[in-house]
Amino acid sequence: MSEEVQITIIGGGVIGCAVAYELSGKYNQNIAVIEKNNQINGENQSSRNSGVIHSGVYYPKNNGPFKAGLCVEGNEMLYRFCVRHNIPHKKTGKLIVATDSLEEEYLKDTHATAEDNGIPGIEMLDGSEIARFEPNIRAISALYVPTSGIVEPTSLVNKLFRLAESNGVMFLVGSEVVEIKPEVEGFEVKVKSKTGIESFKTAMLINAAGLYSDDIARLTNPESPYRMDPFKGEWGKFYKTGRKEISMNGFNVYPVPLGYLPDGEKLKLPFKEFQEKFSQGEINKSTGVHLSPTFEIKGNEYIIGDTVIVGPSYSEPVNREDYRQTREENYYLDMVRPFFPGLKLEDISLHQTGIRAKLKDHYDFVIERDPKYPDFINLVGIDSPGLTASLAIAKYVKELLEG
Ligand SMILES: Cc1cc2nc3c(=O)[nH]c(=O)nc-3n(C[C@H](O)[C@H](O)[C@H](O)COP(=O)(O)OP(=O)(O)OC[C@H]3O[C@@H](n4cnc5c(N)ncnc54)[C@H](O)[C@@H]3O)c2cc1C
Repeated sequence: MSEEVQITIIGGGVIGCAVAYELSGKYNQNIAVIEKNNQINGENQSSRNSGVIHSGVYYPKNNGPFKAGLCVEGNEMLYRFCVRHNIPHKKTGKLIVATDSLEEEYLKDTHATAEDNGIPGIEMLDGSEIARFEPNIRAISALYVPTSGIVEPTSLVNKLFRLAESNGVMFLVGSEVVEIKPEVEGFEVKVKSKTGIESFKTAMLINAAGLYSDDIARLTNPESPYRMDPFKGEWGKFYKTGRKEISMNGFNVYPVPLGYLPDGEKLKLPFKEFQEKFSQGEINKSTGVHLSPTFEIKGNEYIIGDTVIVGPSYSEPVNREDYRQTREENYYLDMVRPFFPGLKLEDISLHQTGIRAKLKDHYDFVIERDPKYPDFINLVGIDSPGLTASLAIAKYVKELLEG
């Protein structure tokens, strides 16, 4: 590590790697990424997600302008990037389904948000039209969203890493940032690794530390207001070839986004009551437990296989390292039975867990210069749809740096 680094990025998940790639090559400066894991493979949020390329239908512009704008922009950028760099992906399309008249009210709200966010090609379907898309899905209406898809997330992280590295970015793995001292110009950064503690100076810092981004923000500026309130997502899975009642054509199929209590339990409130409680921060809103196709390796290639994931679950706030599985197969069955009645308990097995970098009392991504130390850029609370938005977030960071 040279004594003076121009730009230091803390965290080598999809966000840190996307920012490193965006800045590399365009700046003739030295850039370093400091990552506490021993390799760059998206070990935390960046691989433990649904791999869904979101379209931007969920995020109202008034309470989530970054999520709304960067998801839509990131969706297009990600498809272009995946085609150009041969990353396993597919524009599968998505159905958001309503199974009764109350859910239809929630669906209308999602439709309105989707229109407001300018999502192309969306269409309302009735029950018989849904069967043309996915014959085993039962619902009275659905919003069809053609720009939704899936990506193999680890391949995405790895490609961004390799491209940034070949453009000259230095990646320091097995290295945890433990102290940041703002100086008259720039920062002194202390890093702990197997060989001990080293320090170096950097002119500019970018905080892309995922679940620990609130801690990193406070290491630099103790007055930083952001607090992580992380919660767990767990998935089950089944094989769509198991029986004809559970065969699927390969769309992402989502319930309508409902309210969730802070302890993770799903609520089905009258829509007005839901809106009031959500706007007062009493309940959370989640995209819900959905069905999505996944990639698997066949020979040397990723292909979309027969496995369909069912998840992620919602939970009360958890410890950031607690990846234990707590949900059982019947949870997934209960969650999807209203719209996927052919599924049986014996079809389901448990899959993986992930932890979301959700912020307490703050819905949107935080992407800003620290008010006290403007050469410190915070990317805090980058939860879903952060994978989809990653390239757009990186572009926004570059624009922020350029003033
Ligand atoms: C359950 C779940 C489902 C999701 N589903 C989707 C989806 O379908 N579609 C979508 O678009 N998004 C989804 N997301 C969101 C998406 O995965 C995240 O927004 C994205 O991966 C965030 O990337 P990141 O780089 O900020 O975080 P991370 O991948 O967590 O990376 C942060 C990195 O910082 C490192 N780090 C932390 N502290 C330090 C330190 N002190 N020093 C050095 N390094 C440090 C960590 O080791 C880690 O590698 C989902 C997330 C979860 C958890």
